[in-house]
Amino acid sequence: MTTLRVAHLYPEYLNIYADRGNIAVLSSRASWRGIGLEVEPVSLGDDLRPGEHDLLYIGGGQDREQALIAPDLAARCETIREAVDGGVAALAVCGGYQLLGRFYRGRDGEELPGAGLFPHETVAGARRMIGDCLLECELEPGVRRTLAGFENHAGVTRLDDGAEPLGRVVAGFGNDGESGFEGVRVGNALGTYLHGPLLPRNAWLADWILERALEHRTGERRELRPLADELEDEAQNVAAARARLRGGRY
Ligand code: GLN
Repeated sequence: MTTLRVAHLYPEYLNIYADRGNIAVLSSRASWRGIGLEVEPVSLGDDLRPGEHDLLYIGGGQDREQALIAPDLAARCETIREAVDGGVAALAVCGGYQLLGRFYRGRDGEELPGAGLFPHETVAGARRMIGDCLLECELEPGVRRTLAGFENHAGVTRLDDGAEPLGRVVAGFGNDGESGFEGVRVGNALGTYLHGPLLPRNAWLADWILERALEHRTGERRELRPLADELEDEAQNVAAARARLRGGRY
């Protein structure tokens, strides 16, 4: 049996909105295809070697928790860059998404260093961007999918020119409440503001991530056997309807 190795970065600090639920979804969807998923927590001062894991995962958190881990994460910038350049998959949510950019400046004006993997910078704005959010994504050319989740952030993230967003905002605030884009993509590494957790209501993205991690582990790209996702699809429909109804309003 093939077993995927996941590094869960700072699980005890960055885990608001049940972000660890994303790991549970990845684990279930892998096991339903006879694939193992081994999750290693990697926290302050722990070792992390490039390429040792097939997937890096980091959740969201309050400014206070971000400040506690930011220097440790920033010190891993080369390791994370080398891993992603080598095809390792990654999912970074909200506070973790911000800290994989160049920096996050919080409301108190303190600038937290980032790991510099993602081509963006984040500065906390005067008002929090809270609510349901709906995106249109095209991670594979010509394959349009929707992504539905919940956002709650003060951070206003500005992508560099030419950076690839994760998706186009259909309803909600997204990166900055004005550009019309949300998240970012660098190779197999994805960053997003979407909580919920994200993956239970976006099964296709869970499979996309698993396929990239599997390719890193086995050296070959193969599509996972489809699952009966009626419940997951219904969950996305409900979240999408809520976002269309009230997303993107202060
Ligand atoms: N503390 C960050 C902000 O407010 C991230 C919040 C989060 O992870 N939900 O923008």
